[in-house]
Amino acid sequence: MTPESMRRLANAATEALIERAGRLNDAKAWDGEFREVLKDRLGSLPPEDGRPAEEVLTQVVREVLPFAARLDHPRFFGFVPSSPTWPGVVADYLSAGFNINSCTWLVSSGTSQLELVVVDWLRGWIGYPDTAGGLLTSGGSAASVEALVAARIAAGHPDRPTVYMSDQSHSALKRAAVIVGVRRENVRLVSSGDDFRIDMAELRRRVDEDRANGLQPVAVCANAGTTSTGAIDPLAAMADYCASEGIWLHVDAAYGGFSLVTGEGKEVLKGIELADSVGMDAHKWFFQPYEAGALMVKDGTHLEGAFAIGSDYLQDTVWGTNHPNFADRGLQLSRTARALKVWMSVHTFGMAAFRSAVRKGLDLARRADQYVKSSPMLESLSPVSLSILCFRVNPGGHDEGALEKANRQVLARVFWDELAFLSSTSLKGVFSLRLCILNHTTTWEDVERTLDLVVQLGEEALAAGE
Ligand SMILES: *Cc1c(COP(=O)(O)O)cnc(C)c1O
Repeated sequence: MTPESMRRLANAATEALIERAGRLNDAKAWDGEFREVLKDRLGSLPPEDGRPAEEVLTQVVREVLPFAARLDHPRFFGFVPSSPTWPGVVADYLSAGFNINSCTWLVSSGTSQLELVVVDWLRGWIGYPDTAGGLLTSGGSAASVEALVAARIAAGHPDRPTVYMSDQSHSALKRAAVIVGVRRENVRLVSSGDDFRIDMAELRRRVDEDRANGLQPVAVCANAGTTSTGAIDPLAAMADYCASEGIWLHVDAAYGGFSLVTGEGKEVLKGIELADSVGMDAHKWFFQPYEAGALMVKDGTHLEGAFAIGSDYLQDTVWGTNHPNFADRGLQLSRTARALKVWMSVHTFGMAAFRSAVRKGLDLARRADQYVKSSPMLESLSPVSLSILCFRVNPGGHDEGALEKANRQVLARVFWDELAFLSSTSLKGVFSLRLCILNHTTTWEDVERTLDLVVQLGEEALAAGE
């Protein structure tokens, strides 16, 4: 491509992004399309001859990219949303354009140094000692796999490993346990209490029982913010217990981890610094585009112990001590430069801005909780934790069947109304609406309008069901 055509294409892409950002607040929070329709539009065979690049770009901007959840919409409260900063987005563009492969120091020393810097920031936020180490990953799923590989190897590679986590833990952890060779029936889901925190007595009982039966516990996984309710397991108590039993403690902080940059987050996640490893996602509560996760390990040598495997064709890449090859710390050789986006956005806005953006999620969730608790139409179903609250329409006087039906209708109608996007969860069998508030552009008015709509639709659904 000529410089002029490169510029035209890039400018067209930039304009499309800026236009999207400008219209986001007035756009629907979600859009999607059926496969049949998309298949007809987007064809299948690779064309033999090309066509003008801007025409291809225009088609993608109109016919592909809009059919997606707008996870960065100010009223997208479903699942765990994300709202990337523009410098973070531009960092991914630069990294692709400079064709960075952040695998080894020899291949990319600049971004390896930035990864060391960002890993050290994470170390400080967690409160880990200088001996800690880590790497940036594609997300919480990869971090979980890498943590459990390290745990299993640290345990001496037992033949009959077991892993423990609460019944509220994320599916990524269950999958990670299976990937590292724990049989499905040996992934122990320990029950949680009314507060959705792991039952410590049951954890102890199951570990004892397994040991008595000749099984070998290799890891306990704690939640620092479950995806359903934001519940935080008793981290310090779990760390004490795991230390006394010689079992690796991994904390899944994929969702809640970045609350650590605030005083409140630091307080509620106390004990996290005692864990052997922590996974946290910058593409959730640290405003980065996908993919940006991290795994931190208290004793950094565990990662290289587990993952470093020399090879003849990479013999030139050993730069020497103090020049780590991040490929030796995890499962990817070729890796994007994830540190670049974190570093560029923090340097652009400063930590004060990041801290207040994270705090905003905490504050809005608390305010939403007050709304729910003071509304005669709504019932709170879980203690507000971090930035998640679970609730349902329930003015009293209706049976469980009618309530579930009405709340399912409310969810569907919020969805089709397009004002906002909520998702639901099941709390010990009770159908629950759920808000997860993470977006730094969300205002109280956005939250209030959404809750007002839930109340109004709830009244209608219950009246219609009578
Ligand atoms: C999102 C999430 C995961 C999975 O992380 P990915 O980045 O999606 O791979 C794991 N645990 C929790 C608590 C999460 O919220």
